Amino acid sequence: MVVRLILIPLLCLVVPQVWAWSDHASLAWPLLRDQPNLNEPVLIAEPLAAFLSAEQQGIVRVLADVESAMLAEDPDYPPTPTALNFNTVNAGDFPSRFVAAVRISPRLSYPLYHQVMPGEVGEADRRMHWPELSFLDPGESHRGTVYRALVPGERVSIAHVLASASDEPDMGMDIGLYTDNGTDFGQRYGMGQQPFGNPNLSYGSQAPLHMGFYHLDWLTAFAQPELQRGLPLWRIVLYESLAELAFTTGHDYWGWRFMGWALHYIGDLTQPYHADPLPGVSLLSALWSVIMGETDQVIQLVSNRHGVIESYQFERMANLMQRGDWASPLLSRIAQRQSACFLPAAVVPELTVGSIRLGGQLDATLTAVAPARFVSDPTFEWVGSGFETEVVAQVEAEGGDQALRALDGELEVLLGRFSYYLQGWISHGLSLQGQVDSPTCLQTAADETSG
Ligand SMILES: [Zn+2]
Repeated sequence: MVVRLILIPLLCLVVPQVWAWSDHASLAWPLLRDQPNLNEPVLIAEPLAAFLSAEQQGIVRVLADVESAMLAEDPDYPPTPTALNFNTVNAGDFPSRFVAAVRISPRLSYPLYHQVMPGEVGEADRRMHWPELSFLDPGESHRGTVYRALVPGERVSIAHVLASASDEPDMGMDIGLYTDNGTDFGQRYGMGQQPFGNPNLSYGSQAPLHMGFYHLDWLTAFAQPELQRGLPLWRIVLYESLAELAFTTGHDYWGWRFMGWALHYIGDLTQPYHADPLPGVSLLSALWSVIMGETDQVIQLVSNRHGVIESYQFERMANLMQRGDWASPLLSRIAQRQSACFLPAAVVPELTVGSIRLGGQLDATLTAVAPARFVSDPTFEWVGSGFETEVVAQVEAEGGDQALRALDGELEVLLGRFSYYLQGWISHGLSLQGQVDSPTCLQTAADETSG
């Protein structure tokens, strides 16, 4: 009980940073841009309402199947209130009934658009501005991004749809879903109280949808059982099932858009800090810090390291992409082909296990080479410190080339792993679409090949 009392008020500090990778679309782009078969404009943009209206019965079936599977497999899954169930009885207003049935934010319009990727020129007349896509303040990574509206019937490539959609869940889809988030839909969605994450941050309430602590040790599970109520696996399974329906009924645009939505959560979970609340902290040292009353310090340090690596990744990659330096080790690591095989069933036993395994080394490197103030001072708060955009310069000023090389080395491992799962996901999408045979996963070895 003492452990629990000490940890409860503090663990919300573990998860204020819920962007994980900044701009998921750019993260996937070094690989996607390089694949001619994915860059042909073969998809036909179709409004969400048209897809929903054409496939009502299939959607009823898919959502019912996903609901039963989640109820059977996850004791912490919050059941969908029956009043929200998508049905074929109520005609009209398909998008809002669908949005409620899958419990995503009704504050977004889910329009037809794509992100203009680094190195491309957007058509000025079709430019969409951030407030047309999201109610959030644009983060550092979204401020400089150009978005372009698509018109129904327009052709677009798989690469553009998959990349753009993979960033969409960070536009607010999962914000305000819980009863204590101060939204009217949060009152109807049956999600209960937000289990973790800081509800005071504008994007804090998406944390439980974007982080999955599927392998907690007994101490953490005992001290903070709410950490087990993460739901990214639900999102992955839900969107993959909808993608399969869309592909098998000839709505390939929505097939790839749903695959992109699911890819977002897959990308998040490849980040060690999204799969383990305290990477690099052994059970013994956690216990010791509890005994010594130093838990808040441990948590603050982990939170700061989490923030530092994300800012570092964004600044490093954005700079390389702006310069078009696709041959740089970081970008070419993403583009490097791997023989990948990945299905949703591997999320918990494989993907998150590997992420946790990398956490200790990542945490140790950050501690060794990043400025001590950022990563070893429990009185310092990284979020909002103002150092986010100059993190690379700060690391270089204090640790020189050696520090940059060490952090780049950690990033390369993480990006190589992300690329493995991205490639597995693309193969899975192509097989659902009927373009290639179903992958047979002889070995799922992301961690052997890139760790
Ligand atoms: Zn996310």
